[in-house]
Amino acid sequence: MGVLDSFGLQIALDDYDAEVCFVSHAHTDHTKAFSKNRKIIASDETFLLLGKSPSCHPLPQGTSLHQAGHMLGAVQLRAELDGQVFVYTGDFSLHQGYTTLPAKILECDTLMIDSTYALPHLRLPSRADTIRKIAKFVRQNENKIVLLGAYLRGKTQELIRLLNEECGIAPIVSSKADYFCKVYRQSGIKLDWIAAGTPEAQEAMKSAFVAIVPLSQANFSFGAKLSEAFGLEVKTAVVTGWAAFHRFPADEGFPLSDHADFRDTMRYIHESNAKKVICANASDREAAAHLRRIGIDAVAKSSLSGSHQCSLLECMHNK
Ligand SMILES: [Zn+2]
Repeated sequence: MGVLDSFGLQIALDDYDAEVCFVSHAHTDHTKAFSKNRKIIASDETFLLLGKSPSCHPLPQGTSLHQAGHMLGAVQLRAELDGQVFVYTGDFSLHQGYTTLPAKILECDTLMIDSTYALPHLRLPSRADTIRKIAKFVRQNENKIVLLGAYLRGKTQELIRLLNEECGIAPIVSSKADYFCKVYRQSGIKLDWIAAGTPEAQEAMKSAFVAIVPLSQANFSFGAKLSEAFGLEVKTAVVTGWAAFHRFPADEGFPLSDHADFRDTMRYIHESNAKKVICANASDREAAAHLRRIGIDAVAKSSLSGSHQCSLLECMHNK
């Protein structure tokens, strides 16, 4: 993800190619530095979600961390270098979630922004509508087993809170998800769930129940096996932003996302007043090309010289 050159100290951004690494949040595609014995800059919650005691490397002079939305503990990195401000958003969201606050839009000269949904056709439907549809689906199938597929970290906890608040239901989750839910609870987020394998879960599974499972299990074939084992009809749904753009082999797909979509990505870019934008993550070259077409000075992170070892300070000065 690039290396930030700050006063002689190199900081790898969601990567591990420097002694000091910034880990924006606890999703596994951002946390490789933890397995490489590096000095880590991350929020306490990110350390805890990864099963580590919080031990953040002291922040270099001129750098600070800011709320990014997205999931518990997700932060942006802001660095002031030679009077220029650089911001790396990591994955972020601008909406108020059930378990997250909106990301703060930081003014800067150079903005390195997550470009997961940074193309014009990647617009997500209204979040309120999606929430209503999920709640309706769960209520309509109250006499059946309902399997909701979601990522273990972040989305599962968002969905638990949604089910608690909108349906009055405490869903069953896997023991792996149970660990992450406990970290959320320790961090002050109210969640009510049942861990699989406990007597409480066995009791709940004697009749119709709602379970949150990994995305790969919320499908027709797993549903059919479960239906045979429990003698009840099973309904399946995936809960991911990608459900807005792809069909999944499930009864329903609900595009509830913890990322900024195209509109929110553009809002961040405009309100940050950035003079230069670096697109990072999936589709970064297409996203940068689109931004250039509409008059924004943008470059794809993957096209920067030396790929991993680019100096962003250099990039800021080579405008
Ligand atoms: Zn993420």
